[in-house]
Amino acid sequence: MSRIYNFSAGPAMLPEAVLKQAQEELVDWQGSGMSVMEMSHRGKEFMSIAEAAEADLRQVMGIPDNYKVLFLQGGASSQFAMVPLNLLRGGAKADYINTGAWSKKAIAEAKRYCNVNVAATSESENFMTIPAFDSWQLADDAAYVHYTPNETIGGVEFHWIPEVGDKPLVADMSSTILSRPIDVSKYGVIYAGAQKNIGPAGLTVVIVREDLIGQAMERTPTMFDYKTHAESDSMYNTPPTYGWYLAGLVFKWIRDNGGLEAMAEINKRKADKLYAAIDGSDFYANPVDPECRSWMNVPFTLANPELDATFLKEAAAQGLTTLKGHRSVGGMRASIYNAMPEAGVDALIDFMADFEKRNG
Ligand code: PMP
Repeated sequence: MSRIYNFSAGPAMLPEAVLKQAQEELVDWQGSGMSVMEMSHRGKEFMSIAEAAEADLRQVMGIPDNYKVLFLQGGASSQFAMVPLNLLRGGAKADYINTGAWSKKAIAEAKRYCNVNVAATSESENFMTIPAFDSWQLADDAAYVHYTPNETIGGVEFHWIPEVGDKPLVADMSSTILSRPIDVSKYGVIYAGAQKNIGPAGLTVVIVREDLIGQAMERTPTMFDYKTHAESDSMYNTPPTYGWYLAGLVFKWIRDNGGLEAMAEINKRKADKLYAAIDGSDFYANPVDPECRSWMNVPFTLANPELDATFLKEAAAQGLTTLKGHRSVGGMRASIYNAMPEAGVDALIDFMADFEKRNG
């Protein structure tokens, strides 16, 4: 069996050690005589898996005790609605920072429930940078502040946490969670679809400060109320059990590999060398402000877009796949989440240099 280097933005690569353990346990989980997929979510076997996964995530991220961790479905996209439904708490306004395609989706959904104050936007700079914090126009009567720490499509990332005072700070961390240590206590809500740094698609992790639970808007669907899930340990209905189990294996893998400090060190190194290769050539380009370049999603263009198809084809032939940029921006995008080995980034850089030599 030979594994490829898959640069997909998500679903993305999973650590090989995790896949192997899942394979070993697939038919018979630890002598239980059944697969995790076949377990009752309320049985003692799955309960132990669920509890261990949460405990490991809490340890790896340093999640304080006054936060609930919810293991939900519906993707990060459902959180675009759940956040206003739960966090407006009688208010009529929320602050949103617009840094790209995913911010825009969150804003569009929030507008269904409240007045959105776009406190800062980099749209006029084509989302190639992040608005300086001193230019943000936060509203006094906004119930919370929402931002997207990493824009998966644009490849723009906050390398700092906004200090928004008493207002709950809400972050769509789908494509950056677990890539580095963060201070969870600075946030009201953190949410992320699993399919990048956590596990397989179908699971959504929500970390929510307890005092923000229990004030959902009237008529909020039961399944969209954080309280429903917080009170039932994410077992109000059948949770995505297999995804939860695999996420647990990923949390252990992170812990066993040095935790988030180690992830950050490797991620920074991987990103730095890829950007250096791009910047060091006239053949490749990345337009993002160097201060805000993503460690996780690295978009780049070829000087001659007519070579895009050949580039993708030859890269794939060498086991470097899914490098095509998002359909909205074109060019290339290399997503290099935790599970992308450094050797994969090295192989991409070597291929890029060779391709340039032959076509530049
Ligand atoms: N937010 C961000 C930053 C994303 O990258 C994505 C998925 N690519 C989403 C939200 C949507 O996530 P989901 O598909 O889990 O709804």
